[in-house]
Order: sequence, then structure tokens, then C-alpha cells
Amino acid sequence: MNRLGIISIRDILNYNYCPRIPYYEYVLRRPQARTPKEDKGLEMHDSFVPRAKRNRMVKALYYDRKLFNLPLYSPRLNLQTRVDCVLMNTRDRIAVPMQFKHGKAPSCLYRTMRYQLVAEAMLIEEEFGFSCPYGLVKFLPEEKTIKTNINIKDKEELVWQVEKISNIIRFEQYPEGPRTKNYCTDCCYYRKICGGYMRGE
Ligand code: SF4
Repeated sequence: MNRLGIISIRDILNYNYCPRIPYYEYVLRRPQARTPKEDKGLEMHDSFVPRAKRNRMVKALYYDRKLFNLPLYSPRLNLQTRVDCVLMNTRDRIAVPMQFKHGKAPSCLYRTMRYQLVAEAMLIEEEFGFSCPYGLVKFLPEEKTIKTNINIKDKEELVWQVEKISNIIRFEQYPEGPRTKNYCTDCCYYRKICGGYMRGE
């Protein structure tokens, strides 16, 4: 969230990792410390986009316009982001958000990546009036692309998540922990200000 109270895609990612992260960050004002792994990931990410511009994006998809590093903001959703790449089929008015990630492709998309794509799709639809039926994540350097469909339920869930994040901050609500306690050991708040998630808390 920025100084104007606008939710960012980073907040969506954090919330889907653990809903307590926005609480610690904005209510207790304890900024997240980036791990060396995250620093490396960001550094690599900055080098992907220029490289991706020279590559063929997705063989099976027809598109006639590519936009990179596209900033988007929705006053309706109170949400902003910058999309790595948008592939557009201007004839059929279809657009596909595409993220670039560093590392080995997982067997299926993580929840964090999935809701990032849902948010990007909603912002693209609002900005351009195109339909975004699915999104893509391209894992580099292995060049593997994973697709995820985006439906109305995903969009409703995303709107609900934005509302939850706003309420956590506005009403200082201490939220539930992550889906699994395994997330805690990789979290920068673990054993500093948070004891981790205990089932039944
Ligand atoms: S330590 Fe666990 S419960 Fe606490 S904020 Fe991190 S992921 Fe959430």
C-alpha cells in the first residue's frame, strides 16, 4: 500500500502467502526485510524483460501487440500494478497477462502467482475493455510457460482479498495465519515479531 492508501500487487502476493504480513507491515509498521533469495530474484527479473522482448512469447497464441512493463491502476478496485508483459489480440479483443519468473517451474502455479495474474487480468480488462480468459507465467531460464484460466469466481475472490487487506489495516484486525505452517520458516517475521502459525490459533 502506498501513501495514498492504494493497494499494490505486492500486498496481494503477501496476503496470499500469509494474511498477517499486511498487518505487521502496515499496522505495526514493521517493513518486510528482503531475503538474499528475493534480492537475487528481483535482480534476475530486471534482466528478463529486455531479454524477453527479443524472444518469441508463446507459440500457440495469436497476438498482434505486445506491451512490456505496463503500469495499471484501478480507482474502482483501489489497486495498482505493473504487468511484465501483455499479449493482445486486437482483432478478437483478447489480452493475456504474462509474468516472468526466475527459477524452476513448479508442477502447478502457486496461489500467490495465480492471484497476481487474476489482479492483472482485472486491471487490463478495466483499462482496455478486452477479455482476459487466462494468464501465463514464463519460467526462465528453462523457458517453460504455465497457463491458468481466470474465471468469475477468481475475480470475486480477488475483490474480497482487496477488501480484507483494507480492513486489516483500517480496523487493525489481526488475521489468521497462512494455509500451512511450512510458510513460516521462510518468513522474515518468523521468531522476530511472530511466533509462527499454530493450528487452531
Ligand atoms: S511467521 Fe508465519 S504466521 Fe507469522 S507472518 Fe510469517 S508466515 Fe505468517
